[in-house]
Amino acid sequence: MSERLPGYRGLALKMLLEAGADIGDLIRVVKDNVVLEGVLIPRSEYSDDKHIVIKSRSGYNIGVEVTPATKVERVRTELKPLFVPPPPPEQRTGLPKVTILSTGGTIASRVDYRTGAVRPVISASDLYSIVPELSDIAVIDAEILFSIFSEDLTPKNWSAMARAVADHISRGIDGVVVTHGTDTMGYSAAALSFALQKLPVPVVFVGAQRSEDRPSSDAPMNLIGAVYAASSAPFAEVTVAMHETPSDEAIIIHRGTKVRKCHTSRRDAFKTVNSKPLARIVNNKIFILTNNYQPRDLERKIILKPEFDERAALIKFYPGMNPKIIDWYVSEGYRGIVLEGTGLGHVRRECFPAIKGAIDADVIVAMTSQCIWGRVNMNVYSNGRDLLSIGVIPLDDMLAETALVKMMWCLAQSKSIDEAKNLLITNIANEFSDRTVEHFEPPKFSMG
Ligand code: GLU
Repeated sequence: MSERLPGYRGLALKMLLEAGADIGDLIRVVKDNVVLEGVLIPRSEYSDDKHIVIKSRSGYNIGVEVTPATKVERVRTELKPLFVPPPPPEQRTGLPKVTILSTGGTIASRVDYRTGAVRPVISASDLYSIVPELSDIAVIDAEILFSIFSEDLTPKNWSAMARAVADHISRGIDGVVVTHGTDTMGYSAAALSFALQKLPVPVVFVGAQRSEDRPSSDAPMNLIGAVYAASSAPFAEVTVAMHETPSDEAIIIHRGTKVRKCHTSRRDAFKTVNSKPLARIVNNKIFILTNNYQPRDLERKIILKPEFDERAALIKFYPGMNPKIIDWYVSEGYRGIVLEGTGLGHVRRECFPAIKGAIDADVIVAMTSQCIWGRVNMNVYSNGRDLLSIGVIPLDDMLAETALVKMMWCLAQSKSIDEAKNLLITNIANEFSDRTVEHFEPPKFSMG
């Protein structure tokens, strides 16, 4: 795909390049003796390679299917993607200092209505002018780390995020906000929970389910809640701030190792699993929901452990799963496998020889549950007990996604397999919850 002509591929891209056309140019397309003129607008990444989309003078978007006989001409430069933010409000002095690091996703982007271009909105003054309430909460410094859909992020991006956060914290700020695509925000929050130890100040991930140009957008309120938590919360942990309910009642602060995206589109998609959220923010007041947290302490020295070994996999078991799937990971040199087993932590007996083979080849194999809520307990049924005797490590109530991230992190931190195994079962960032605070609160999603 072309950076200059986002979304265009194949014949459509070739014709636009030959015509020297850019997004925002007025172009003329002649097809079957019909002449169409309009401003060239970007296409979505998943569009086909046969259509050119122009915005006509009437304001309608027209998709023209191109064939080798179609003629495309650039008429002139008409409109360029342009966003002029309203003037920022006056900055108050003496407020806490917060850094916003942007990684991509809906939260920190804005659509240019004339051309359809999406541009990141991230300079501090952009943010103040779009969400003026921020200027009453904190003095904000902003930096774009990446502009990547979160499904395209890799563990290398987690390492870069961890390093950037640690760097900003070392400059003496009161908190960090990381804006992020929602799809894999839980993985990144877990990754930074392990990579950033002994945090002196909070690190708050935030995303948006609906983009800022939509009236139902959750972006401004989520961002205000995140900046408020980063600047004023009493805890110094990696967290996620999102809507608690579909309405604009409250922002809920989840712990980075216990949070999961549980709905594709709702504003309250993120839920804390097997634990309690850390806090709720209502009208810029913070209500702490647990006493078990690492308190903010500006004197504490951060410990940065940003490496992840990507040779770890998460395998969701399903009835009839072919054991060769496990063999394949071993033959590819993977060093850790997290199984997402059924119920209390089971897979079919047919898989046992492959699992034993993996463990004999020094691959760490651990078990989580696809039930999501509850703990694995492999002592109840014979299949579980047999897996334990083969050497599978039960991971109690840890989320499968968090377990994968932790496996990658443990493998990168350890010099031996025993050291990695010990680290895997050690509670580092509250990824295991205490049995005495057993907590079951499945998401309350109503229909419609
Ligand atoms: N798939 C996108 C992402 O996770 C969706 C946009 C968003 O959630 O911000 O980055």
